[in-house]
Amino acid sequence: MFEKLALIGIGLIGSSIARATRQKGLARTIAISTRRQETLDEAQALGLGDIYTMDAAEAVRGADHVILCIPVQSYDAVMAQIGPHLAEGAILSDVGSVKQHVAKAMAPHVPKGVHLIPGHPIAGTEHSGPAAGFPELFINRWCVLTPGKDVDRGAVSRLSAFWTALGSNVEIMEAQHHDMVLAITSHIPHLVAYNIVGTVADLEQDTQSEVIKFSASGFRDFTRIAASDPVMWRDVFLTNRDAVLEMLGRFLEDLSKLQRMVRVGDGPGMEALFTRTRKIRRSIITAGQETAAADFGRPHGAATVLQGPSGTAVLDGAAAPLVETNIEVDRPVREHGGGDDA
Ligand code: NAP
Repeated sequence: MFEKLALIGIGLIGSSIARATRQKGLARTIAISTRRQETLDEAQALGLGDIYTMDAAEAVRGADHVILCIPVQSYDAVMAQIGPHLAEGAILSDVGSVKQHVAKAMAPHVPKGVHLIPGHPIAGTEHSGPAAGFPELFINRWCVLTPGKDVDRGAVSRLSAFWTALGSNVEIMEAQHHDMVLAITSHIPHLVAYNIVGTVADLEQDTQSEVIKFSASGFRDFTRIAASDPVMWRDVFLTNRDAVLEMLGRFLEDLSKLQRMVRVGDGPGMEALFTRTRKIRRSIITAGQETAAADFGRPHGAATVLQGPSGTAVLDGAAAPLVETNIEVDRPVREHGGGDDA
């Protein structure tokens, strides 16, 4: 489908795109560029591409498809480097978790004749680095594209077809709307998780040990989200501030209402709320974005991804839909995890 795909950044998301592109035969050549030699060597050892370079400008030269897979605060510097070398007619996209900010950071560097179409695959895990990626990451996940009004429709269709071929469902949206929706579905949940785990980190030693020992009762799920990459999430909150503050305001109002219900012993009020929230969970399962299978931190009937003889992933276990929360992947990951479904 594409002659040359250039991936700028080869962590969890970049390497998952590389693996899926290779598996589906969506690009003749895959060029990989990253900031540190160590990461480039790791990507090369994993055989993720055809060209490996520390020079992002060299990677994008002659590429008809370029995707930035780096933290959003680094776009400006990287775009200044690659902008003059982008090929006429190329599609330039990204995977950043916020969209208004990235469009502003990218646009000034985009030469005429290059199609800028920001994107966001809503798929991830709490791990990062080239080894953390896997080709099934995008299957049955949403990928949101936020093209500006004047962007060539043919280019948008080509990019949509690319993400569809990776297994995603594609939605076209305005950047502002994307940022508001993601603020409540992803950014606020991460903020809450960082906060609750932070509270435990501040408890005195004895209480902290108890919390860790009995963590199955809710806290454990928060720790997975709060293990997400600190740099990536710092960038999300720095660049989607307005939408996050708007949604945080609503969240705090609702929390105060709940606090009052607890204080005055409003049992019926709490029961009515918890019944409504249970329905939301069920509708997510019905929409195929999660399974109902119990997960106690062990693979209970969930799909398990194993390394096949050729290094390709094969599925084992029950035929559960592929969602990142129930995929148990036995592969090395970096100590500090990446983002989670950001
Ligand atoms: P990752 O695994 O940590 O990989 C980050 C990549 O960006 C690495 O290649 C890294 O290079 C490079 N990089 C880091 N800082 C850089 C800088 N200042 N300048 C240039 N390159 C830099 O991250 P990821 O999880 O793939 O996330 C990448 C993007 O995907 C982010 O914008 C994030 O918002 C978005 N996203 C993440 C998720 C998720 O769940 N993780 C989901 C959807 C979207 P070196 O290793 O060589 O330093």
